[in-house]
Amino acid sequence: MANLKLSHIYKVYDNGHKAVNDFNIDIADREFIVFVGPSGCGKSTTLRMIAGLETITAGDMFIGDTLVNDMEPKDRDIAMVFQSYALYPHMTVYENMAFGLRNRKMPEDEIKQRVMKAAKMLDIEDYLERKPKEMSGGQRQRVALGRALVRDPKVFLLDEPLSNLDAKLRAAMRTEITALHKSLKTTFIYVTHDQVEAMTMGTRIVVMKLGYVQQIDTPMNLYNEPYNKFVAGFIGTPQMNFFDVKLQREGDVVTIIFSNGDTVHVPYEKVSKIHSHYLDGKTPVIFGIRPEHISLKKDGDGLKFIVTNIERLGNETIVYGKLGDHLGEFTMKDEGNNIIVKLVDRDDIEVGDVVYAEPNPNKVHFFDAETEITLMNKIPPFNTLEARAAGDGRMELLDSSVGVPPAFAEALKGAPVFSLNVPPQAIVPGDDFHLPVARIEKADDKRLAYLKYGDGYIFALVGDEVAEGDDYGFSLLNEKVNVLVEGAEVLTTIDDEVSMTGRFSKKDAKENGERVLHFFYNIGDYTLEALPEQGYKINSIDGDSCYKNTYRYALDRNCIRFVDSGEAGLDAKVLKLHDYGNIRFAEVEADGQSFLIRVDPDFAAEKVRLAFDSKDVSVYSTKIDMKIC
Ligand code: ADP
Repeated sequence: MANLKLSHIYKVYDNGHKAVNDFNIDIADREFIVFVGPSGCGKSTTLRMIAGLETITAGDMFIGDTLVNDMEPKDRDIAMVFQSYALYPHMTVYENMAFGLRNRKMPEDEIKQRVMKAAKMLDIEDYLERKPKEMSGGQRQRVALGRALVRDPKVFLLDEPLSNLDAKLRAAMRTEITALHKSLKTTFIYVTHDQVEAMTMGTRIVVMKLGYVQQIDTPMNLYNEPYNKFVAGFIGTPQMNFFDVKLQREGDVVTIIFSNGDTVHVPYEKVSKIHSHYLDGKTPVIFGIRPEHISLKKDGDGLKFIVTNIERLGNETIVYGKLGDHLGEFTMKDEGNNIIVKLVDRDDIEVGDVVYAEPNPNKVHFFDAETEITLMNKIPPFNTLEARAAGDGRMELLDSSVGVPPAFAEALKGAPVFSLNVPPQAIVPGDDFHLPVARIEKADDKRLAYLKYGDGYIFALVGDEVAEGDDYGFSLLNEKVNVLVEGAEVLTTIDDEVSMTGRFSKKDAKENGERVLHFFYNIGDYTLEALPEQGYKINSIDGDSCYKNTYRYALDRNCIRFVDSGEAGLDAKVLKLHDYGNIRFAEVEADGQSFLIRVDPDFAAEKVRLAFDSKDVSVYSTKIDMKIC
C-alpha cells in the first residue's frame, strides 16, 4: 500500500526527444490510476520511470515518503505487468510465479503459500504444472498478474496488459482486474490507449497527448467537463461531434450559427459562463455535442441533415449523416459536415431521410477555435468589466465611483473608456462594489458566486459565509487586473513569481579532512549558496556543462528581502514605482535585468540590496523549457 507523488517529471531521451513534460500528480493509496492517450504520448515512458526502468531527466518521484529517483527498480516495492506477458517458456506456471521470489531467496514453503494464494485468486490453480504455450492468452495474462501478485508489492504497474486479448476476453479481464484491485487494496497504475478500459477501470484518468498531460480527472468529470477538444473527442464512443460555428446572444437566447447558415438556439442561462466576446456572432467557436445528446425531429427547424447510414445494434441505433439535405459527391474526407446521433428506443429513421438535430442544451460544449480549450471552465478565467473615467482621478465601474489606481492612470494615458479583465480570484471581500449573489456553485473545492450585473454575471470566488441572495461587498486586487483600451492591453497583471537569469558554480572545500562540494547560484555579483540537493541535481542533469550554462532562477516575489551593504546581496537600482493603490511595487534593475519587487507605501530609496534563500528558488533550464529543481 502506498501513495505516489510525481512532481515536475520530465523525460528527454538521448536523441533530444521530449517524451514527457512537467508531469505532476498526487496518487492516493489504493487509487486505480489510468494513463490513457494515443500511441507515442508518453504513457509507457512515465510508467517505466515509476518502475525505475527509465531514468528521470528532471523532477522528483516519491513512493510513500521516499524519494525514489535513484532507487533501483528491485528496491521500489512495485510490480509490473506487461502486454507481452514476458513469461519464461521453459518454466511451468508455478515456476514462473515462484521465480522472482526464489531469486530473493525466500523460503520454499512461503513461496508455495504465496503462489497457491495468488493462483486461487486468479483461478489458475489447475494449470500450475503447465507450460505457458499450453495456455490461452487470457490464462497467460493471469499468470503474468500472478507473478506480480506473489510479490505483494506496494504498487502495481500494468502496461497495456489486455491488448493482446480478443475483445470478449478483454472485457472479462477488465472486470477481473477491477475486482482484483478492490480485493488487494493496493495502488494500481494502468496504461492503455483504449478509452473504454480507462473509463471502466480508473478511479482517476490521466489523459495525455504528445508528452503533455491534458486533464486528470474522474471518468465522469472527463466525460461531462472535458478541458479541451482533444479530451472531449478522446473520451466517449462514438466520438463527440464538432462543428465550426459562431454564437450570437440576443437577450435570454444564444443562437448557434453553423457554417451553412443553419441555426440552433440554447437558453443563455445554460452557457452563461462563456465570455461575452464569444457571443458577438463573429468569433469562430467550436461546438461539441455527443451523439447521445442529440434528439431527432422529422420536421421543423434546426440543424438539418441527410441520413447516410444507420447501424442498428439492438439496444441503440447509430445514425450517420451529412449536414444539409442532399448527399453531394461521395468522399471519405472529413469536410466538417458529418454528424453522428445515438438513439435509444427509436426505429423510424431510414437512410436518405432528411431530419433535424436538436442538441440537449444541458449537454453542449464550446471550445476556443484556436486554443481548443473549453469556453465553459468550472471557474471562468476572467470577467470583463467596462469602466469610464469620471474626472478627479476617479472611475465609474460596476455602478460605483472609485479611485483610479495610479498605475492604471499612467497606462490609460487619459483614455476616457476602458475595460478591465478581472479574474474571479482577484475579487475579494471589500467595500468598493456591491452586487447581489444570484447563485453559488461548487467548483472543485472552491465556491463560485454568480454576481448579477446588467444582463449577465460577474464570477467571483467566495468564502463559506457568502450565501445566495446576499448583497456581496467586494474590492479588486488591482495588480491582478488587465487593463485594455479599445481591446488592446495597456497594463498586464503582475504574477507572484520573479525570474532572473544567472550562472551556476561550484567550489571544492576540505572539511574535517574530507572533500566537500559547495554549489552556488550566481546572479551578477550575488553569490547564493545552493542547497546541496539542488546543486547535485543540476550537476547530475546537465553534467559538467552546468558550469557554462545559463539558468533561470524563479522565486515568489514575497521571498525577496532587503539587506544591508555588509551582507551578501544583489545590488539593484530603482527605476520606477508602480502604485496599484492596494499594493506598491518598485521596478528595479540588477545585472542588466529588470523586475518588480514589493515595497511599502513609504518606500523612496534609489538603490536597494536584495537577498533571498536558496530554498525558495526554483531552477529552470534555459535550453529547453524544463524545471530542474
Ligand atoms: P506511449 O506509451 O504513449 O505509446 P512512449 O512512452 O512509449 O509512448 O513514447 C513516447 C515518445 O517517446 C514516442 O514519441 C517515442 O517514439 C519516444 N521514445 C520512446 N522510447 C524512446 C527512446 N528510447 N529513445 C528515443 N525516443 C523514445
